[in-house]
Amino acid sequence: MPRKLMAANWKMFKTWEEACQTARELVVAVRKDLPDDREVLLCPPFTALRGVSEMLSRQEGFYLGGQNFYPAEQGAFTGEINPDQLLDAGCTYALVGHSERRHVIGEKNGFLASKVAFGLKKGLKVILCIGETLEERKQGEVQSVLHRQLEQGLQHISSATSPEDLAVAYEPVWAIGTGETAGPPEIEHAHNLVRDKLKSILNQAEQIRILYGGSVKPDNTASIISLDNVDGVLVGGSSLSAEKFSQIVLA
Ligand code: PEP
Repeated sequence: MPRKLMAANWKMFKTWEEACQTARELVVAVRKDLPDDREVLLCPPFTALRGVSEMLSRQEGFYLGGQNFYPAEQGAFTGEINPDQLLDAGCTYALVGHSERRHVIGEKNGFLASKVAFGLKKGLKVILCIGETLEERKQGEVQSVLHRQLEQGLQHISSATSPEDLAVAYEPVWAIGTGETAGPPEIEHAHNLVRDKLKSILNQAEQIRILYGGSVKPDNTASIISLDNVDGVLVGGSSLSAEKFSQIVLA
């Protein structure tokens, strides 16, 4: 069984000092009780990667991730960051296609597919984020949206991709930062759809971790994490506080 991945996405919050402080508090709150079957991932803003990396160094079970990267070696891409720069700052993981990248910045499946393939090639573990909007759910399009995002997002990778290198985060757009959480039947249904689709794309799909994200909080984590095919959580708002996120990690 792969270890459950308890991931924090700090988005565009926290200065360097604030991020280091939260990471420090979190490590102290969690390290003694972190079960062997869980790992913790922090995705701070780029400016705080190096500082948070120092806080996590030599801490068993704690990893650093980038929230995004550009799929090129280097070059004239003002404002972007490449996988080597993330690795150099101490990252093991990177998010690709977070809902805010898709819907605020306008990134499309084809571009995200290049990122998944390039990130893996460069040695990052990639978490591809997918999920339907409220409108798509109302139109009965959950399955077609998730299938399309997986088919297109994973179109350039080998079916032999190691399950340790790839994870999928199911994050219904209507549940992100809204306080709305998908209920257990909705989560299970979507995660089963994702698992089945992954089986048609990848050899070792049973081992790929599928995280749930969308208003995860200390009081709903235990019930979410115990569902079939839920192999971790991706947490925004509630991960900004070390106290709340430590409760989530240990729930
Ligand atoms: C996210 O940013 O991926 C997320 C799920 O945010 P929140 O937990 O705030 O809904």
